[in-house]
Amino acid sequence: MLPNKIRSKPVYLDNHATTPTDPRVVDAMLPYFSNSFGNPHSGSHYYGWEASDAVELAREQVAGAIGASSEEIYFTSGATEANNIALKGITRFYREKKNHIITCVTEHPCILDSANELASEGTRVTFLEVGSDGLIDISSLRDAITDDTVLVSIMTVQNELGTVQPIAEIGKLCHEHEVLLHTDAAQALGKMSLDVKAMNIDLMSITGHKAYGPMGCGALYLTKKPRVKIKPLFSGGGQEKSIRPGTLPTPLCVGFGKACELAGAEVESEAKRLKQMRDGLLSNLDDNLSGLHVNGGMNHRVPGNLNVSLEGVDAESLMAALPDLAFSSGSACSSASSEASYVLKAIGTSTNLAESSLRIGIGRFTLEEEVDYAAHRLIEEIRNIRKNQQILLVDAAE
Ligand SMILES: *Cc1c(COP(=O)(O)O)cnc(C)c1O
Repeated sequence: MLPNKIRSKPVYLDNHATTPTDPRVVDAMLPYFSNSFGNPHSGSHYYGWEASDAVELAREQVAGAIGASSEEIYFTSGATEANNIALKGITRFYREKKNHIITCVTEHPCILDSANELASEGTRVTFLEVGSDGLIDISSLRDAITDDTVLVSIMTVQNELGTVQPIAEIGKLCHEHEVLLHTDAAQALGKMSLDVKAMNIDLMSITGHKAYGPMGCGALYLTKKPRVKIKPLFSGGGQEKSIRPGTLPTPLCVGFGKACELAGAEVESEAKRLKQMRDGLLSNLDDNLSGLHVNGGMNHRVPGNLNVSLEGVDAESLMAALPDLAFSSGSACSSASSEASYVLKAIGTSTNLAESSLRIGIGRFTLEEEVDYAAHRLIEEIRNIRKNQQILLVDAAE
């Protein structure tokens, strides 16, 4: 009944943490490690031109996936770096004129930490709250914007909840007040269609390894209309128009470009398939288990994500009982700490339920049999844990 993949390794259900590299991406990358190894910035000979052509094609592929033009794409090492450049680069450049930025409490730690660092340098930072659906309230954003606001940074898709913010509407409001909009779209690329112009986005961060591309390569989109200035984080040899100097990793750029091409081409068919599997899994769990709570709204959510809490079940113990499944919990999301997730806290989840939360990320290479197997095992072990707890409770009462 179970495919070989399941017997040899745990079923992978953590596609928000990273995605496997698509074999088509690996194939595109391989020649650039060996045969076509040139430095893309060597302008005087064949090897450099060959690598440079490959990087520029990749740049077009990245731009194509988000509705940008290729001159608006700056390669980085990933979304963490792109987010740092966007927040610190914009804020530090415009600080003399405007010195207030707005972000949100459920952003990725690299945004929150960048914002806190800017606050320690004297920038005023507003952290917007979210509702139980995980979304910000547009009117509180409107209230927060002042003449001193230079930048709003709101993520497109939340990495724990999969919830999708109303970015086009946020961008429209920003532009009415001549404020720039940055969005961390690391979890959105390939999961929903993206169009920076239609969505009123001025800066966007994306990364390869959340979209079936390689780890270590991402991009910052920076609009050229209006012309926006950035104070770079690094000094260097002028690459990427000095916004992100350093030799570009040709194989990674090529792989990221290919991943973006596939993401753009397959987003709709893939979304439909993932949604079917996700909805099937949710109804299977809900039909067979009591005390199940969905965290965050289901209406504005990317298709492969499920985040649920199960009353009375400690997620860490559940994971320990399920070595045949690889998923994550809301209690140890930022690997360094074992505290309940700040994201679940922000949407009003109690500490108990946050410690009972599971995040499941279904992806391009997840098989239907794997989802069925996961549902079967989750139901079995959750019932087991609850039954043992009953026995302990009865014992304690005696
Ligand atoms: C993974 C992730 C990041 C970090 O991206 P890297 O490319 O690993 O640096 C940033 N933001 C969100 C929402 C993410 O999911």
